[in-house]
Amino acid sequence: MTTSIRRYIETDTGHRVPNHKSKCRHMHGHRYRFEAEIEGDVVNISGVSEEGMLMDFSDISELLTIHIHDVIDHAFVVYEGDELGRAACEVMGDSHRTVIVPFIPTAENLAKWAFDTLAPHIRSAYGNRLQLVAMHCRETPKSLATWRI
Ligand SMILES: [Zn+2]
Repeated sequence: MTTSIRRYIETDTGHRVPNHKSKCRHMHGHRYRFEAEIEGDVVNISGVSEEGMLMDFSDISELLTIHIHDVIDHAFVVYEGDELGRAACEVMGDSHRTVIVPFIPTAENLAKWAFDTLAPHIRSAYGNRLQLVAMHCRETPKSLATWRI
């Protein structure tokens, strides 16, 4: 038996899928929702702040904000191999917020990126076996991708 918790943050982020057969190859953006799913044991140490929790939701939110939101919010995420997309971002100048990534920024790949980015920061001070087990990336109200270990 395992307890799991989830917490999300949202970002407004631009991207394009350069090889897409239809409209996704155009530069556009989404309000992304990155939702971390964490498993572990409930802390049963009497008197500590996290007693009765896996991890403080506000601590998860802070990590998501620092490592995900503050990196890609109001930024354009572009695949390093997307020469046209990169050129378009370069025209905008150095003050444009461009994030170059080594993958095509689909919801699936962004979910894995967010997972890999956040996972090292999910640690417990109480030995309650905390582990990031999944990252869900909602790209539209109808579209969700999950990277799960
Ligand atoms: Zn899109």
